[in-house]
Amino acid sequence: MVLLAVVAAVVGLVREARSSDAPVTADAAGTSTSAAAPSSSAPATTSSAAPATPPPAAPTFDRTQLSLDAPDSLWVVVDKARPLAPLEYAPADLVDIGGRQLRAEAAQAMRDMTAAAAAQGLTVTLQSAYRSYDYQVDTFRNQVARFGEARAEIQVARPGYSEHQTGLAADVGGGGCDIESCFATTAEGRWVADHGAEFGWIVRYPDGAQDVTGYKYEPWHVRYVGVALATELQRTGTRTLEEFFGLPAAPGYPG
Ligand SMILES: [Zn+2]
Repeated sequence: MVLLAVVAAVVGLVREARSSDAPVTADAAGTSTSAAAPSSSAPATTSSAAPATPPPAAPTFDRTQLSLDAPDSLWVVVDKARPLAPLEYAPADLVDIGGRQLRAEAAQAMRDMTAAAAAQGLTVTLQSAYRSYDYQVDTFRNQVARFGEARAEIQVARPGYSEHQTGLAADVGGGGCDIESCFATTAEGRWVADHGAEFGWIVRYPDGAQDVTGYKYEPWHVRYVGVALATELQRTGTRTLEEFFGLPAAPGYPG
């Protein structure tokens, strides 16, 4: 009896957490507000017949499940203080997605997210995905030649320091605004910010966190970290991976 009560309580808590995490926001444009019922795509837990074992306690999230350092870890944290190791790392499981490449799991999650957006009448497009070390070398050199090193380092990441090199980062667009700050104000941009976590994506460079991430607000740049971590970040209102994992802020390159 006591056990049943505990299970019931935990289930209640979980339900409460689920229903409170995505308040329906008024659509300023007044267009697709019928998105009132947000995606039913979140995997429903087995609703019928409660199993004998109680569900795992939700409150504690194990922050050590995956490596933050291994370049092929879904949780790898890459910033201006944490280059990929090795610098020339290339993922082994890249797959094609619309003529671009992402790691297999991220590619599937991108397909799922854009499909869910489409179901709400929103067209979220993939603008950029995996970028190789060599590509970044060329891009960085071009920027240095055109604008000088200081400006180049604001515009593009040094080779080996770009999250795009992990195969887990993507730039998305929509609403007539691709890879621009105005994406944040589009219905697509707001949807991605609100619902990306349900598919394992986070807005990696949020507004007002440049002192932590080293990058100004990039509402279009999303990073795949898996549903568990993405929803935990959203649930706890944590802006950045650095803050969640207690890593040093990385406002710029060292030295
Ligand atoms: Zn990007």
